[in-house]
Amino acid sequence: MFVDSHCHLNFPGLRERLPEIRAEMAAARVDRALCICTTLEEFDEVHGIALAHTNFWATVGVHPDNEGVLEPSLDDLLGRAALPRVVAIGETGLDYYRLNGRSLADMAWQRERFRVHIRAARHAALPLVVHTRAAGADTVTMLADEGATSGVFHCFTETPAIAAAALDLGFYISFSGILTFRNAVEIQEVAAMVPLERCLIETDSPYLAPVPHRGRSNQPAWVAHVAAKLAQIKGLSVEDVARVTSANFERLFDRAAPSGAAPA
Ligand SMILES: [Zn+2]
Ligand SMILES: [Zn+2]
Repeated sequence: MFVDSHCHLNFPGLRERLPEIRAEMAAARVDRALCICTTLEEFDEVHGIALAHTNFWATVGVHPDNEGVLEPSLDDLLGRAALPRVVAIGETGLDYYRLNGRSLADMAWQRERFRVHIRAARHAALPLVVHTRAAGADTVTMLADEGATSGVFHCFTETPAIAAAALDLGFYISFSGILTFRNAVEIQEVAAMVPLERCLIETDSPYLAPVPHRGRSNQPAWVAHVAAKLAQIKGLSVEDVARVTSANFERLFDRAAPSGAAPA
């Protein structure tokens, strides 16, 4: 019924509990999840989780917050993107939230890393999983300049104007557990504005557990709470939100679309 479009199941605290996490998913009718890569160093582990389970898929990318890690070349990304069950490039993007005293000019390395990812996505004809924090304008500008046309702004926390620009680029908007937080008024406004046909839902596990689990280690089963909040905001049934966001997931990450029988 539901798909968790963004989670980190290889992170400590989750990878040791995969059987339990999968049982919780089944009980909550969360039948698929996309496992997101954040460094080249962890790719094999993320990919291994996807290879071992028919309802998990993987991405390849290096997160903008990761410093002191292998810097990906175009070929590093393309080689891994060609492997089975890899369905997207990312997560990648810009994050100006923690500059640690640096100027925006000092973050040129982050923009260069993002550019390599955007080019890889175009070469491989794969969607981008974009992380952007306090950097919405630069993120939109770079995607437009590089001709990106397919992807998702994950864990959306930017303004309605940035959401509109992302939609204009042809991107989807993914909502996390933040949507359920009482003080997340602006994100709830964005959720009301974005057409359901362009919405995805995610947990970003182990981070950002939704209400009523806020503060705990998150897990894919709890994406159902994000769906329920989105349904409430849009005045729809949770079944409709599940059906449409799952169809959106298959349309965007088309390598993850069922080739034969669809999961129930
Ligand atoms: Zn992220
Ligand atoms: Zn993430």
